[in-house]
Amino acid sequence: MAAGGGGITRSLIGQNPTKITTGKTKTTFKDVAGIDAEKQELMEIVDFLKNKEKYKSLGARVPRGVLLSGEPGTGKTLLARAVAGEANVPFFATSGSDFSGIIVGLGVAKIKEIFELAKRNAPCILFIDEIDAIGQSRSKHTINDNDREQTLNQLLIEMDGFANDTGIIVIAATNRPDMLDAALLRPGRFDRQIYIELPNLEGRRDILDLHAKKFKIDDKVSLMDVARGTTGFSGADLENLLNEAALHAVRANHKVVEQSDLEEARDKILMGPKKNRKMRPEDIKLTAYHEAGHAFVGLHYDGIVDPIHKATIIPRGRALGMVQHVPVDDKMSMTIEEVRADLSVDLAGRASEEVFFGKNKITTGAASDIENATRLARRSITMAGLSDKIGMVAINQVNTFGQRVALENASEKTAEKVDEEIKNWLDTAYKDAKNLVAKNKATVDKLAKALLDKETLSGEEIREIVFGKKAKEISKKTKKKTDAKK
Ligand code: ADP
Ligand code: ZN
Repeated sequence: MAAGGGGITRSLIGQNPTKITTGKTKTTFKDVAGIDAEKQELMEIVDFLKNKEKYKSLGARVPRGVLLSGEPGTGKTLLARAVAGEANVPFFATSGSDFSGIIVGLGVAKIKEIFELAKRNAPCILFIDEIDAIGQSRSKHTINDNDREQTLNQLLIEMDGFANDTGIIVIAATNRPDMLDAALLRPGRFDRQIYIELPNLEGRRDILDLHAKKFKIDDKVSLMDVARGTTGFSGADLENLLNEAALHAVRANHKVVEQSDLEEARDKILMGPKKNRKMRPEDIKLTAYHEAGHAFVGLHYDGIVDPIHKATIIPRGRALGMVQHVPVDDKMSMTIEEVRADLSVDLAGRASEEVFFGKNKITTGAASDIENATRLARRSITMAGLSDKIGMVAINQVNTFGQRVALENASEKTAEKVDEEIKNWLDTAYKDAKNLVAKNKATVDKLAKALLDKETLSGEEIREIVFGKKAKEISKKTKKKTDAKK
């Protein structure tokens, strides 16, 4: 069969029907809790669907595609459905995995089919779950590549094809936004991107409150306490938790869902084989001290490293927690002082683990910190001539594809010296971080406990814990300093 799908007959689609959920939906934003910022962003889409003329008369270009990304179960499908419900337009849902067929050309035909369906029913929402199944970056080669590429191209053609005012909004969802082909994200395609985080403490309480209405729950139960004990749970996990608890209550012959049922359910989900990403209490504690170490040393080098935006122990992706820094300006280069301070901040997580829990309790959680630090040190030493011992020799170079390559003429002796020097820099940075944490153990302890209590601390809150009342003045001062730097 010719690629491009021209030869695909209706009967072939008939034998392999696209799974489409069709029709009106009663879901509205009231059914979505804990992610108010994301709801707010989608309000505009709803407004457009309701008041098309207003936008048209002003000539405003409205988004055709919205990409929702986030961990599974964070409510992406729910949100898309709610947009349709709020705007009172039909909702068509399908999944990208349904397009990567065994029969070459079928994907293309199916894309055409769903867009025809959408056009006939406009204004409407067309929801494509698991968009990465078709929209994967074309550089990531797999078998069946050609067919997938054809399917992706057809999707791009359809999105470019429909006029601005048809009122079709395509909402796609993925938990791997990094895998997507850049062509999908260009203007006029999925140019609106919304990242849905795992819910924070308050978000989890709101989601629990919402779903709890469906169950008979003991008045004595505190859902806030349940929220506290469910760091890293998605909305779907929380709903599942309530359901498991209700099942347990039935088995235990309880008249209402009791605290003990909720605890049983939580343990079951935590210990369950598939959900090993949910954090055990001891992991949460260790993460808090790890992140507190980063935050403290980061603040110690305030003005040299980027200011701290927030610290959190809510897991995301592969990371158990993180400390976010915001760059003050678009830094193109770093001073050697900045490099060495950055290295200390990178290794401060591990340093804090060792100071608080001892050499035998350090964890693999610092792997990506060590990777970052090693990369920074290596680049500084082998490409930027920042090391006295090695001097201004380019041992690595960036090739025309932007990849770092080792020069062939670097001798083995030089390579050995480089390795030694990298280790030297990292050792020094680690010692420095460890000293700082050990000397300020009480403050780092306070930071960790605050993280355990609130899960996320803003830069301001971190300053207040470390500097006390003077925090505000100090942060004003650094702000002036950074303003001046611009
Ligand atoms: P995703 O598409 O991101 O994998 P879903 O939208 O399918 O997640 O979520 C599954 C279910 O979990 C929803 O139908 C809803 O019952 C529940 N849920 C998830 N997030 C939320 C939320 N923010 N508020 C209320 N319920 C939620
Ligand atoms: Zn770390």
